Amino acid sequence: MPMKHPAKTISDALRESRLFLARHKIPDANLATEIILAHVLKSYRTYLYRNFYKRLSLRQLSVYNKLTQQHIKGKPISRITGKKEFMSLPFIINRHVLSPRPETELVAEEALRLIQSYPADKLIILDIGTGSGNIAVSVAKLCQNRHLHVFASDTSAQALKIARQNARINGVEKLITFCKGDLFRAFKPFRLGHKADFILTNPPYITPCEYKKLPNSVLKYDPKHALYAKDDGLYYHKQIMEKASRYLRQNGYLLMEMGMGQCENLKKLAAESYNPNQIKILRDYNDIPRMLSIRYN
Ligand code: GLN
Repeated sequence: MPMKHPAKTISDALRESRLFLARHKIPDANLATEIILAHVLKSYRTYLYRNFYKRLSLRQLSVYNKLTQQHIKGKPISRITGKKEFMSLPFIINRHVLSPRPETELVAEEALRLIQSYPADKLIILDIGTGSGNIAVSVAKLCQNRHLHVFASDTSAQALKIARQNARINGVEKLITFCKGDLFRAFKPFRLGHKADFILTNPPYITPCEYKKLPNSVLKYDPKHALYAKDDGLYYHKQIMEKASRYLRQNGYLLMEMGMGQCENLKKLAAESYNPNQIKILRDYNDIPRMLSIRYN
């Protein structure tokens, strides 16, 4: 990092790199410096303020400077620390999984809301394309007043490894079965036909044309197979809608995240196979239609 006087204490390091990040127009420069330094010191951000005048070793400084540089070049903070919060729960991530997005909390929140009034003694929930396990783990964790079991699938064994670790970190490993395989094929050994109460999914939905225009912070760090979908980005939604009715119980729900501008097409497609009165669209915090909810009856 091209700083003239290498920082010596935590306070110096924070001040200098804050200015440095701000000069490079990095948003939230204060927060970014704190998260990166806390990560280097393997501690929490509060530690920095309790040890404000503590000296940093040369090694700590050089790692800190290196990571700060990477952030300036576009590496997201979550990719630097290998951690990301979802539904206020801790998740680890690596290059094999999509970094969970705040928009996806809509799927988990709506599932939690519906589950509270859903009449079943034991709920079976499917999470298709679990990635880091964020949807499966947060629903299992935040729904502990209900008797439930989640089956979470992914085609990537490396992703499932991370998802299992996240289940363990959040103490819900007994509530989730991770299954390797493509979409519903992963669930075949469990004979779940017409047994699922909820099917939750954030499938890949970026169109080939949009994919090329994604910022480097996404293109370089999120796995392509977690984002990219042919058929105007609706390839996976179509597959899932086609098969979901074989897995859902009467009055069960299918909740699917979708991309900007996909709402009308998706609604039309859904109405071909499901009762149009039971199809709902939910908007995200930017007022963008983000989730399709279908009640199967
Ligand atoms: N279920 C994960 C998420 O919502 C992964 C989704 C994906 O890889 N498309 O973030």
